[in-house]
Amino acid sequence: MPDREESPAGPRRPETLAAQALGRVDGATGAIIPPVHPSTTFERAADLGYPRGRSYTRPGNPTYDTASDTLTALEGGAGTLLFSSGMAAATAVFLSLRPGDHVVAPRVMYWALRSWLVGYATEWGLEVELAETHDLDALARAVRPGKTRLVWIETPANPLWTITDIAAAAAIAHRAGARLTVDSTVATPVLTRPLALGADIVMHSATKYLNGHSDVLLGTLTTARDDESWQRIRQIQGELGGVPGSFEAWLLQRGMRTLFARVRWQCGSAMAIARYLAGHPRVAEVLYPGLDTHPGHALAARQMQDGFGGMLSVRIRGGAGAAIKVAGALEVWKRATSLGGVESLVEHRASVEGPDSPVPDDLLRLSVGLEATEDLVTDLERALAAVAG
Ligand code: PLP
Repeated sequence: MPDREESPAGPRRPETLAAQALGRVDGATGAIIPPVHPSTTFERAADLGYPRGRSYTRPGNPTYDTASDTLTALEGGAGTLLFSSGMAAATAVFLSLRPGDHVVAPRVMYWALRSWLVGYATEWGLEVELAETHDLDALARAVRPGKTRLVWIETPANPLWTITDIAAAAAIAHRAGARLTVDSTVATPVLTRPLALGADIVMHSATKYLNGHSDVLLGTLTTARDDESWQRIRQIQGELGGVPGSFEAWLLQRGMRTLFARVRWQCGSAMAIARYLAGHPRVAEVLYPGLDTHPGHALAARQMQDGFGGMLSVRIRGGAGAAIKVAGALEVWKRATSLGGVESLVEHRASVEGPDSPVPDDLLRLSVGLEATEDLVTDLERALAAVAG
């Protein structure tokens, strides 16, 4: 029996599609959870063809399908490719361009990608321009009509959580003949659907919220259209082989089933923590798009639905030394990199990013997990008091 997913009851809401991973039932066994296919190779028929459409795992493994089709549905796209990491997904977009192409990317963004762009990508012939892409006038000045091929934005952007108007950025990119890719790792399809706002590709480090349990490294790209540029990216994925293992892809489809419940809880908890910190005398500034003091608040309220995300940053009075002491005194919050997992994490970004970092050195980045909000607040209260004493 073929796999079953069509429902006579009509279209489902995103929460339902995610919880049931599209509601697919395995045709062979009736299993409601899909199997893992570890096989790297697939049988040819007697005429040496591949009647089932599968040949080898690098260009595609059946275990990828549940995760990629679910994400395509959640993002409202035409297709999704899975990569071995968020960086593999992001760099595939740039590698699909040609030497001499001009690209615009944010000055403050996920640091490892910025560092790859200004280092390797530039050496390999891309002309990379970093700009304040959330400032639409600055973005319009940075694009070069007929020369810029790609505008890359991240919203909310690490670690200041600046918000970029996706529809306006898409219009600017398209007027110049460029395509717009959005790193939507922090927003997730729960809060923002960039393709519906005009973006051409949406990228996720699925290592973060999509999987959500800090036990899978994986990246995704979802396209608005299955066009020539997408086919070039698909070729890079399949030929360079930056693809996940089948077990990782299986874990991703499992993680995405709880995406909506996790992200909504994290948004509520992050808002409460941001409000608490904003009133604390040891805190110089709280950066969270949910607070009306954040420069991107009005735009975020318009562009994001259901909340402002689970990420915030806090600037501690007394500079880098005080910030590091606060991080050191925390117990419930774990000192670790990454974000979007069930456990709350704290990180002093300037130490991680090094001397070229544009991030203020008194800033701590907080990734809010699923613990009791009260425990997270009490831990912060204790750590801030310990530094004051
Ligand atoms: N984009 C953002 C916003 C990230 O936070 C990260 C990782 O921290 C990446 C991309 C890279 O993803 P990965 O670590 O899965 O390669």
